[in-house]
Amino acid sequence: MTAKSPLEYFPAPRRANFCSQCGSPVNRRVPEGDNRERDICDHCGAIHYQNPRLVVGTVPVLDNRVLLCRRAIEPRYNTWTLPAGFMELGESTAQGAGRETLEESGARIRLGDIYTIIDVPQIEQVHVFYLAEVLGPELDPGPESLEARFYDEADIPWDDLAFRTVATTLQRYFEDRRRGTFGPHHYTLESHR
Ligand SMILES: [Zn+2]
Repeated sequence: MTAKSPLEYFPAPRRANFCSQCGSPVNRRVPEGDNRERDICDHCGAIHYQNPRLVVGTVPVLDNRVLLCRRAIEPRYNTWTLPAGFMELGESTAQGAGRETLEESGARIRLGDIYTIIDVPQIEQVHVFYLAEVLGPELDPGPESLEARFYDEADIPWDDLAFRTVATTLQRYFEDRRRGTFGPHHYTLESHR
């Protein structure tokens, strides 16, 4: 599973068989006044809408080096990623990006501007990365990371990056650094490579 699907952040099953409100089986059809199929519970009336998920993260930089984390979890176990994860209910994108960075690396950061906004419609996700200034070299990776360390551009493990959104964000970052202007970049990743 790890090597096959570099675009996917999380192979989350979308379809439900049972209503999360009352436990009855759900039926899939277009609700009245709608224009696409939903999981509908004919017992309690609940319509279980599904919408894209947001993944939020950072490009943390200290002294021209970028902080990457080696994943201790599937998918893409043992590959390198920018700190990122699913936005939680009740938080802002900036809070989520900061939280994920702290959880996965232990780095203290000052969050900067939004850097990449990447639509990944095939897997029903949007990935958002913020620029971030790392305030000191101390790291303390949490249970989701095997390791966290700073990389010079020349040493980035391009062949062992976890996700295409991470790779394309890093590519743009280094291009921008040579130019001296930083994003924001909005683009779409269409299909598996
Ligand atoms: Zn129900």
